[in-house]
Amino acid sequence: MTFATHDAFSLAVRAKISLPHTHVDTIFFDGAWQPAQGTCRNPVTDPATGDVWGSVPDGTPEDVDAAVGSAQRAFAGEWPRLAPSRRAAYLVRIAEEVEKRAEELSLTNSRENGSPVAESAGAAANAASIFRYFATLADYLEGEDVRPFPHGGGESVVRRDPLGVCALIAPWNFPINLVVIKLAPALLAGCTVVIKPASPTPLSIRVIIEAVAAAGVPAGVVNLVTGSGRLGDVLVKHPVVAKVAFTGSTPVGRKIAAACGELLRPVTLELGGKSSAIVLPDADLDAMSKVLIKSSMRNTGQTCYISTRILAPASRYDEVVDMVTATIAAAKQGDPLEPDTVFGPCATESQYRTVLEYIDSGLAEGARATIGGRPATLSGGLEHGYFVEPTVFADVTPDMRISREEIFGPVICILKYNDDGGTVDEAVALANNTEFGLGGLVFGKDPDASLAVADRMDTGSVGLNFFASNHAAPFGGRHDSGLGTEYGIEGLNAYLSYKSIHRRA
Ligand code: NAP
Ligand code: MG
Repeated sequence: MTFATHDAFSLAVRAKISLPHTHVDTIFFDGAWQPAQGTCRNPVTDPATGDVWGSVPDGTPEDVDAAVGSAQRAFAGEWPRLAPSRRAAYLVRIAEEVEKRAEELSLTNSRENGSPVAESAGAAANAASIFRYFATLADYLEGEDVRPFPHGGGESVVRRDPLGVCALIAPWNFPINLVVIKLAPALLAGCTVVIKPASPTPLSIRVIIEAVAAAGVPAGVVNLVTGSGRLGDVLVKHPVVAKVAFTGSTPVGRKIAAACGELLRPVTLELGGKSSAIVLPDADLDAMSKVLIKSSMRNTGQTCYISTRILAPASRYDEVVDMVTATIAAAKQGDPLEPDTVFGPCATESQYRTVLEYIDSGLAEGARATIGGRPATLSGGLEHGYFVEPTVFADVTPDMRISREEIFGPVICILKYNDDGGTVDEAVALANNTEFGLGGLVFGKDPDASLAVADRMDTGSVGLNFFASNHAAPFGGRHDSGLGTEYGIEGLNAYLSYKSIHRRA
């Protein structure tokens, strides 16, 4: 593992950065930045240094009322009544405005959650492509949908109405795109929204709000509050909110589902995961090493769908362990603002402690760390901030906590399956032996055999020899990984309410 001594670099680079949003006392409603009601502030910490560099209002229920009221007025106005193609044109303009702000977005994102700039530099382009993709679905909303009664005698006109004011609640790992994947379909559908970002990452989304305003989206359609999970709870339960879209942890998702169940309020939940990469006996390990970091350790292991459990055939177990170890060892950990950094810090101090606890539990339960296993600060160079050495555990067994629970940090577990006679049944059983069901991968040379294994995996998405989400294909978790889907036409449907108008033909 290469460590950068990043202090001199960090200070020099940070001294030169000038970001539009740092210490702020406003939230966004009625089309303008306006002072929040309360006087409390939440700090924004740079996880690479541990320094506080920003702050935002810790919102109050009055702030939620202001933002929801603004969204409610906008929903009573022209927005839901515009032709979908007009709303699509706004989406395209937002995409252009987002692209103009790529650098601000990237640097704000990296300073608030420690994502390497190599990762956050793509956030604006990805957000823009999500807006542009949903703009292409205007035809689907505009098309006449008339369905004859199967036995004749009449027909039904099917309307797809926007649900209303939507609460969009996001986590800290991808603070821009996990909002945009909700915002774009909500806007195309004709909904209005109130966004609540995660406490560690409240600033980069303000740059998206500026892009929305610059695109000329009518006042009140998009609103922003900042504050703790308690504020999120107030927003979820607000009487005017018609739908909740949430990405975050499974325990918080359960609470939101319970609240929405009581209120009979539609909810979409994108939750945690513990996904597996099945290495088939014929896998090309050189090719696998080229995609390994993206598919199993993306964003310093803080990505919901990555396959952090690698299931290796007994016949090639040592080879897989050596390849994974060498690949991780060759990747640089360091200041997320350095362009060649692959592994940054954990996003928060509490996540840093959680990851270290998991590493200790892995060691205590008998797993073998082939690399890593300590806070990076102990290895020199990364004295400040929340760095944990990227860690590879071999000899992991299915009962260990590190094999069962979502760690959400730079830790890979390699398990062994019995491939006697070329069978992969045990690998499929291991992959499916989890409460989660979000991502997954199959590495193999034979496309048909790989597809057949993917078909047996009980999960929402599977990649064959690589993983990337496709804006046009549904993404969602099974079991404890969530409820409902985002992306694709299915993701748009989540913001619609159907009405059938029956008439004699
Ligand atoms: P989290 O703790 O569940 O928080 C997510 C969001 O919910 C934050 O904005 C949080 O605010 C808010 N919140 C907390 N309690 C709430 C409540 N009772 N009611 C309403 N909102 C509440 O998740 P996180 O720690 O930010 O993110 C990591 C998790 O997200 C991981 O489990 C990861 O797997 C999951 N994730 C899933 C996906 C997916 O698509 N399936 C994608 C990315 C991440 P505060 O920050 O102020 O507490
Ligand atoms: Mg949390």
